[in-house]
Amino acid sequence: MPFESNAMNDHPPMGAASEPLLQVTGLSSGYGPVRAIHQADLHIYAGELVAIVGGNGAGKTTLLHTLSGLHPVSSGHIRFAGQDITRWPPHRIVAAGVCQVLEGRQVFAPLSVEDNLRLGAYRQHRDPNWVRQETEHVYTLFPILAERRQQPAGTLSGGQQQMLAIGRALLGRPRLLLLDEPSMGLAPLLVEEIFQVIVELHTRGVTILLVEQNARAALAIAQRGYILETGRIAKTAPAAELLADDDVRRAYLGY
Ligand code: ATP
Repeated sequence: MPFESNAMNDHPPMGAASEPLLQVTGLSSGYGPVRAIHQADLHIYAGELVAIVGGNGAGKTTLLHTLSGLHPVSSGHIRFAGQDITRWPPHRIVAAGVCQVLEGRQVFAPLSVEDNLRLGAYRQHRDPNWVRQETEHVYTLFPILAERRQQPAGTLSGGQQQMLAIGRALLGRPRLLLLDEPSMGLAPLLVEEIFQVIVELHTRGVTILLVEQNARAALAIAQRGYILETGRIAKTAPAAELLADDDVRRAYLGY
């Protein structure tokens, strides 16, 4: 049975700006006759870590691609940092500070770890000092990448490639980081490691929208969550409430 929509959490967290950093209203998008996202409403305030959880084919990737301009909007509106970005091209959305880490990591396999990171900084390439400083910052977050900086990215483990993909996005100076299923294909121990990194980024002030099939892990670290079912936002609540919700537990947590 579909979950009921829940209009709570419309208030900014303590100390947050009154307008959400990202405000999505009535968003729909799809593939020809296939409507993948239906009338989605969601928001995220600066400094929040928000999870969108849903099963296979729920529309998670389509939603993120639509937010970052990689997939066209059919109807609805996307506001980011006070501007209507609904029909902006991806490069302009990235320049505004929305950086997406694609599903499946997508690193440049033959290039070194360091060159992959530098590519994330292509907009700041005229400021080599900044690039060096921020690359070192990524290495402090992911010491294993520092050890392997000259190694081809394709020779890293799955978890290390995920760290590299996140690190590369950080070089884009994100105001909002969109993470598409960072746990995908990783062993449980590595999932834990990646999620600890996400918590660390959030602690350092990065605003994060995380989409995940691994509902338990995502809701365990998020402040708020949305349940996405066949392209619709079926429920939204603080993450702790979703974790304790009987319907969510049965459908997504397996107990
Ligand atoms: P997964 O967790 O399996 O990656 P998802 O939640 O990210 O799934 P999407 O990949 O966004 O879901 O897919 C949403 C819906 O859109 C699905 O019904 C899917 O079959 C459909 N879809 C996705 N890509 C295409 C495409 N290129 N052409 C047609 N339909 C598509």
